[in-house]
Amino acid sequence: MAADSSTTSTPVSLDDLRWKKFPVLDDGFVTLVDVMGNDASVVQAARVSYGEGTRKVSDDRQLIRYLLRHAHTTPFEMAEVKFLVRVPMDCWRQWVRHRTANINEYSTRYSLAIDSMQATQDDGWRSQATSNRQGSAGFLSPTNGHPLTQAEQELQSLARRVYEERLASGIAREQARKDLPLSTYTEAYWKVDLHNLLHFLALRMDSHAQLEIRRYAETIGQEIIAKLFPLCWEAFLDYRFHAMRLTHLDQGVIQRLAAAGKGFPVDQQAFMAAQDASWTNLERCRERDECLGKLVSLGLVAE
Ligand SMILES: Cc1cc2nc3c(=O)[nH]c(=O)nc-3n(C[C@H](O)[C@H](O)[C@H](O)COP(=O)(O)OP(=O)(O)OC[C@H]3O[C@@H](n4cnc5c(N)ncnc54)[C@H](O)[C@@H]3O)c2cc1C
Repeated sequence: MAADSSTTSTPVSLDDLRWKKFPVLDDGFVTLVDVMGNDASVVQAARVSYGEGTRKVSDDRQLIRYLLRHAHTTPFEMAEVKFLVRVPMDCWRQWVRHRTANINEYSTRYSLAIDSMQATQDDGWRSQATSNRQGSAGFLSPTNGHPLTQAEQELQSLARRVYEERLASGIAREQARKDLPLSTYTEAYWKVDLHNLLHFLALRMDSHAQLEIRRYAETIGQEIIAKLFPLCWEAFLDYRFHAMRLTHLDQGVIQRLAAAGKGFPVDQQAFMAAQDASWTNLERCRERDECLGKLVSLGLVAE
C-alpha cells in the first residue's frame, strides 16, 4: 500500500468507522474503538489565545499545515484515538516501544493464548538485506509447497500441541505459554494522542520499518486517520512522511555542486568531489550514502 497525498477526503463520522475490522496480515486486524476530537480540535487548541472567531476552512487548513510544518506538538495532543488491535507478538514487541500510548493487553496468564499464529505463505519469505543489517531485501521466488512454509506449519502445530498438553496436565497458564512462538497473535487496546500517533506512523510506515508492522501502520493511517483527520493527514504526508531532511552537511554538498556550475544532474564522481571533508577518507560512510540517496531522489545526481 503506498501512502497517497494526492487526495484529501472529507471527514467521516465516527459511527462509519467504529468497530469496523480492518484486516491486516493473515489473521490480524485494526479496529477503531473511539476517538476524541478531529481537525477542528487541533485548530481550536492552537487558537486558544484568539478565540474561535469565524474562521474559514481554508484558514484552518493553513493553520494545521503551519503547525505541522514547524513541528508544533501540543495542539495535536488534544485529539486522542483508541484502537483494538490483533497483532503477532514479534510485531507487538516493536509496537510497545512507543511509550507515549496507553495499553491494555490480553493476558495469557489469565486466559488461553489466542489460537492463531501468523503464517508465512510460500511467496512471503524475504531474503536478508546486505546493505541494512536490520532489513529484508525482496521476496524469494515463490515455490509451491516451500519447505520453509511446511516447517513453519509443523513448528507452530507442535508448539500449540505442547502448550495444550501442558494445560491439560494442570500446568499454570503463565508457565505453559513459555514456548509459544512470537508469531502467536495477541490483542490489545491501544490509546494514543494524535501527535504521538503521527510519530508512530512516520516511523512505522517508513520503508525501514519491518514489513509486518508497516502493514498495521499503513492501515491505521490510510483507513482511519486519513478519514477522521483529513487536514492533519494531508499535512502529515506533505511535511513529515514524504518530507526529506537536508542536514547542514547535505546542504554544503549541494552548494558546492551548484557553485561548480556544471548543471544537474551531475555524475557520482562529481558528487564524490563535492562531498563533505569529514567523509573523504572513509571507504564506507553511511551518512555519505544517505546524502547520495537524497540527491539522487531529487534528480541532482544521476543514478
Ligand atoms: C526502523 C526502526 C528500527 C529500530 N531498531 C531498534 C533496535 O535495533 N533496538 C531497539 O532497542 N529499538 C529499536 N527501535 C525502536 C526505537 O529506538 C524507539 O524506541 C521506538 O521507535 C519508539 O520511538 P520513540 O521513543 O520516538 O516513541 P515514543 O516512545 O512514543 O516517544 C515519543 C517521544 O516522546 C518522548 N519520550 C517518550 N518517553 C520518554 C521518556 N521516558 N523520557 C523522555 N522523553 C520521552 C521522546 O521525545 C520520544 O521521541 C527501532 C525503531 C525503528 C522505527
